[in-house]
Amino acid sequence: MPEFRLYNSLTRQDEPFAPADGQTVRFYACGPTVYNPAHLGNFRTFLFEDLLRRVIRLRGWDIEQVMNLTDVDDKIIKRATEQGKTIREVTDPIVEIFHADREFLRVQRAEHYPRATDYIAEMITLVQRLEQKGVAYKADDNSVYFAIDKFPTYGTLSRLDTREIKSGARVSQDEYAKENAQDFALWKSAKAEDEACEAAWDSPWGRGRPGWHLECSAMAMAILGETIDLHAGGIDLMFPHHEDEIAQSEAATGKPFARCWCHGEFLLTDGTKMAKRVGNVATVADLRANKVSPAALRHFVFSTHYRKQLNLSGEALEASQEAVRRVGDFADRLERELAGTPELAQVAETLMVEATAALYDDLNAPRAMAALFDFISAANREFDRRGSDKGSLLRARDVFAQVNAVLDIIPERGLDDATLAAWVEEQLRLRADARGRRDFAAADEIRKAIEAKGIVIEDAAGATRWKVVR
Ligand code: AMP
Ligand code: ZN
Repeated sequence: MPEFRLYNSLTRQDEPFAPADGQTVRFYACGPTVYNPAHLGNFRTFLFEDLLRRVIRLRGWDIEQVMNLTDVDDKIIKRATEQGKTIREVTDPIVEIFHADREFLRVQRAEHYPRATDYIAEMITLVQRLEQKGVAYKADDNSVYFAIDKFPTYGTLSRLDTREIKSGARVSQDEYAKENAQDFALWKSAKAEDEACEAAWDSPWGRGRPGWHLECSAMAMAILGETIDLHAGGIDLMFPHHEDEIAQSEAATGKPFARCWCHGEFLLTDGTKMAKRVGNVATVADLRANKVSPAALRHFVFSTHYRKQLNLSGEALEASQEAVRRVGDFADRLERELAGTPELAQVAETLMVEATAALYDDLNAPRAMAALFDFISAANREFDRRGSDKGSLLRARDVFAQVNAVLDIIPERGLDDATLAAWVEEQLRLRADARGRRDFAAADEIRKAIEAKGIVIEDAAGATRWKVVR
């Protein structure tokens, strides 16, 4: 079996990866801030994490994945205040939309989706541990801060120049730039607007709420343990979010927090990072409105390596629609064919070897996908030769299913009228060919495959008509 390798942001190199216990990968992925439906940029990151999850399973390991839902932070409180709601009233419906969108895009369910507001007690305990270690202090604004100069390795992940560290200077916002590498808030004292939207809890330091970074450290360690195998997120989270997670966790436990850190690159529109504040976002709702199949979006995202930037465009999505239509047609043919040539088994073997080698090489999905399309062409050629080897057909089906279990790029029939129409027309052409060479058995098989999709066909006056009946 080829070695499984990942690029570890901590060491800035490709490294062999395996779970510490040899069996179960303990994986934490930073989830959405639930004040607005996630956009396709967020979903590019969640799709990269879905790929990671599925390749881990292909490799034969078990997985225990946590994706947190950030349901208390500066942005949520601002939204709740504007709308005169509690934070729960803002976040509950967004959590539902997140799961519906996630399922639409076939992002597999993680084992845990903890909400930050359900882990306040664990967060308070973590801040207390940090106080006991002398790395946390209560400031005159009644908030508790992490003293970055008391944690000598602060900045290792993002290669922060230590000279930038301003001892004692403080930053209280959840998001800030590298220039503001300062003591950051672990626990923020409650303001009137926090109380008004129910974003305040009792604590040893008075009423307050957790800082964003603290949420992830507390939940990751509570659910997965003090040292986890894998931690992932978008590249923008490396600083300050992940840097601060490392500082809080490692200062408290004295142990490494995550053995491997993986960061996905941005989705762009017209060369600019997709972001709510830029106003260039597209969502799953837009995909549905434009009848872009989830398979096509997955194909589009996986066509570029996760560590490279990717630009969203209508043309690229159309090309992906076309590509996955081929995958769907091939999947149908694989179902329909009764046998293959002996060479088909060889073609399938090549796909298995090339796809796993690519995927285990830092999740090289574009290369795995290229191997899949080569396989589809080669297998179609073998089917055209009409062999009688049942075993090779079964092997081809098995390998195709294993590779597609990672990529998941077969479009759903019936969802997309244009795809369906093109498919039916293609089937009718194949059926006419079969009849032309008097292969009535094959023609009949094709008719059955069409009817199985709820479509009836009528031959009349030398032409064939079809219609959807259900
Ligand atoms: P947020 O809801 O802002 O906390 O972000 C959720 C996830 O989406 C994080 O892992 C971010 O790094 C990621 N993310 C945000 N914008 C983009 C983008 N344009 N492309 C890729 N990932 C993004
Ligand atoms: Zn996080």
